[in-house]
Amino acid sequence: SLLDTFDRYPLTFGKTAIEHLPRLTEAVGAGVEFYAKRDDCNSGLAFGGNKLRKLEYIVPDAIASGADTLVSIGGVQSNHTRMVAATAAKIGMKCVVIQEKWVPHYDAVYDRVGNIMLTRLMGADSRLVDDGFDIGIRKSWEDAIKSVEDAGGKPYPIPAGASVHKYGALGYVGFAEEVAEQEAELGFTFDYIVVCVVTGSTQAGMIVGFAAQDRADRVIGIDASGTVDQTRDQVRSIVDNTADLVGLGRKVREDEIHINPDYAYPAYGVPSEETNDAIRLAARTEAMMTDPVYEGKSMQGMIDLARKGFFPKGSKVLYAHLGGAPALNGYSYYYKDG
Ligand code: PLP
Repeated sequence: SLLDTFDRYPLTFGKTAIEHLPRLTEAVGAGVEFYAKRDDCNSGLAFGGNKLRKLEYIVPDAIASGADTLVSIGGVQSNHTRMVAATAAKIGMKCVVIQEKWVPHYDAVYDRVGNIMLTRLMGADSRLVDDGFDIGIRKSWEDAIKSVEDAGGKPYPIPAGASVHKYGALGYVGFAEEVAEQEAELGFTFDYIVVCVVTGSTQAGMIVGFAAQDRADRVIGIDASGTVDQTRDQVRSIVDNTADLVGLGRKVREDEIHINPDYAYPAYGVPSEETNDAIRLAARTEAMMTDPVYEGKSMQGMIDLARKGFFPKGSKVLYAHLGGAPALNGYSYYYKDG
């Protein structure tokens, strides 16, 4: 394994299930077989999700640093800040999270239910601020780090999505190795992997892991940021840093980084009618819950690409389900009638 020399602090149950999706396959009717790898069910910590795979490789560094407080940042309905709060609770640290108003929202309970409620229940100090969407480094975050120091604590900063962190993509290098092991058990291989991308380290880790198997170009990123150039640049730089870190032994080529910008509309955190249709279809055919911010958009992308003939007939397509369903609670007005 490319990861043998790295410390890992277990936060997940282990290998995540790969589930066949026969009713979704039939409903889409494109001659493409769908499967899902259920990273949304990867842990007992506060409903789990992709950030725990990343945090498993970050926690050893946080503990070694002597920190007593994890500090991070995300939107009001951030899955990431929920997962950092969960990790802090589990390892006995304090937690400060900045929650920015990334999303224009109309639900009266948006800042009280779902992810932010769980974050508060786990004892994190959750601070709402007014800044808009940006995947980069923010002043509010630097202020939060300083506030911990001023109070005599020792902060350990974790950037948005745990992405721009030396070890942030290692967990998803592991995902690629896990898929290869599971394919050997299943007796077939997947032709494509579909994954939602915003802050970038999930897809970047997969690209490095699958590059070692010479099939990184089969990872189809579906952008949900709506700022795809920034996301692509961030994926590129995380891929390069991670390839060096794990000793991939070559530079990942541009044609191995595939990001589709077509499904992020109308904006980050706002589902289109087509996104909501995809959420309903996955729910009604497979009881698989996807959210309006991330996974609903990659589900929409996978379905639409299949219908457009992007995947050759007979392809086996693996949907990486990264979590995020708690955010549905903040969007109830879309689903009053189902
Ligand atoms: N899906 C879910 C449920 C998420 O919480 C996130 C986090 O941003 C993503 C997808 C995107 O992953 P990344 O930020 O690593 O690109």
